[in-house]
Amino acid sequence: LRTMAKSKFEYVRNFEVDDTCLRNCWIVVRLDGRNFHKFAEQHSFTKPNDDRALNLMTRCAQAVMEELEDIVIAYGQSDEYSFVFQKKSNWFKRRASKFMTHVASQFASSYVFYWKDYFQDQTLLYPPGFDGRVILYPSNQNLRDYLSWRQADCHINNLFNTVFWNLVQKGGLTTSQAREIEGRHGTLSGDKNEILFSEFNINYNNEPLIHRKGTALVWKKIDEITTKTIKLPNEEKEKEIVVTRTRKKVTPLHCDLIGEEFWEEHSEILED
Ligand code: ATP
Ligand code: ATP
Ligand code: MG
Ligand code: MG
Ligand code: MG
Repeated sequence: LRTMAKSKFEYVRNFEVDDTCLRNCWIVVRLDGRNFHKFAEQHSFTKPNDDRALNLMTRCAQAVMEELEDIVIAYGQSDEYSFVFQKKSNWFKRRASKFMTHVASQFASSYVFYWKDYFQDQTLLYPPGFDGRVILYPSNQNLRDYLSWRQADCHINNLFNTVFWNLVQKGGLTTSQAREIEGRHGTLSGDKNEILFSEFNINYNNEPLIHRKGTALVWKKIDEITTKTIKLPNEEKEKEIVVTRTRKKVTPLHCDLIGEEFWEEHSEILED
């Protein structure tokens, strides 16, 4: 062990401010792609949903969950992902800036690292960036409402975009004409469902779940059966034995997070 000599410059450390997250609160980090409207256009994302981009986002979120500590669930849609750290986490002494910057940098470097696995015939034209924020939720209900809010946002945007791009791609309308029609029908989702059904014979409920619900990442227990060769001290021969190990694996789900069912089925997420 080396003892650090203190220099006269050492006092500047006192300018660092305390950003410890309040104890017992769920710590949420949400990332969002910087200027992805333009990024999507420049990289020829399909409209309204590019599955390569969605799957790449989820691959990055999986890397974040595996590399960093204490994440119990993640939820993503469009160019955003939220990560929920367990409320008792003491990772980096709960310093908000450590959480935010580790999530954002791990995610962004993964986005570039895994790009080629999802976009074979599209070169990455420039390095993308992500903003991050930390939000604390003191109750389970607040946390559930947060995730419900993001999933409701996914639904509202996807319904809007599905109508918009069908009017343009199949209806032959210009983007400004499509915007005009959407505006006329306001925010009523019944009207949007009706346009899809009567004009394009699309039942919105049959649209892919990944687009309607987004992606939740949870830890799932997997029984891994392997054989192990052992040598017992008082036996001459080696012996093969079967061992079952339970491993936790990050698993993507495209399901409703708003109702009770998900939380009953995954009650361990909200446990201490
Ligand atoms: P900001 O920097 O403020 O976040 P932004 O351009 O990223 O600006 P957002 O509100 O985050 O704005 O919207 C992200 C945009 O990225 C969407 O509106 C859409 O155009 C595009 N986008 C993101 N993911 C996809 C995808 N999987 N498929 C198609 N388009 C996508
Ligand atoms: P933490 O995650 O807490 O930052 P750390 O291992 O990154 O842990 P630092 O105090 O940041 O610890 O120190 C960075 C270490 O990385 C150095 O001590 C050195 O071992 C190594 N390192 C970084 N840059 C170089 C370099 N250019 N050449 C050789 N070693 C380097
Ligand atoms: Mg964005
Ligand atoms: Mg966004
Ligand atoms: Mg370091």
